[in-house]
Amino acid sequence: MMATTHALWGMMLALPVLAVAPEFAPVAFVAGLVGGAAPDLDLYTGHRKTLHYPVYATVATVPALAAALVAPSATTVALAVGLTAAALHAVSDVLGGGLELRPWEGTSERAVYSHYHDRWVRPRRWVRYDGAPEDLLLAISAGAPVIATADGFVGAVAFSLLAVSVGYSLLRKPLAGVAERLVGRLPASLLPYVPARYRGT
Ligand SMILES: [Zn+2]
Repeated sequence: MMATTHALWGMMLALPVLAVAPEFAPVAFVAGLVGGAAPDLDLYTGHRKTLHYPVYATVATVPALAAALVAPSATTVALAVGLTAAALHAVSDVLGGGLELRPWEGTSERAVYSHYHDRWVRPRRWVRYDGAPEDLLLAISAGAPVIATADGFVGAVAFSLLAVSVGYSLLRKPLAGVAERLVGRLPASLLPYVPARYRGT
């Protein structure tokens, strides 16, 4: 799934906070956005392994949510929403495609790494690849309620993320070829710094 889809779903997790404790809504939206997007910062080192914790992050949401409910504060609410967004990201990666540059070809059996099971979880391919029409639909389904209910600035951020999603969806397939050609022109000494999916491995 697109990083923007994950970010928007993270922001959507802040909507219940907006409904019941609006004073914490701003921090919840930021936490949801950051928590939803952050796992993909491992793109350059052990993608979908280093910062993806489908089991541990999910388990950690229980005490985090309990703490936010029992002792609501900016810190506990941010932790609860951020952790839930990160857990949702890691778990939902299972429903997407594999790690390869062209996930629509379905050649990779690696969706996300489960540190608990100590192995890769295979992709279910409900969302065939990042930027697929069904991925864009997921982004819209999370972005629309955020835009409809959040105030101006948060709504504008969500709208921008949706705009990027639309552009990425349109360019995703041609971009795979462009990336490969660009990497092909890099000096060999730089190749270790390029994510594996672009190196054709
Ligand atoms: Zn991810």
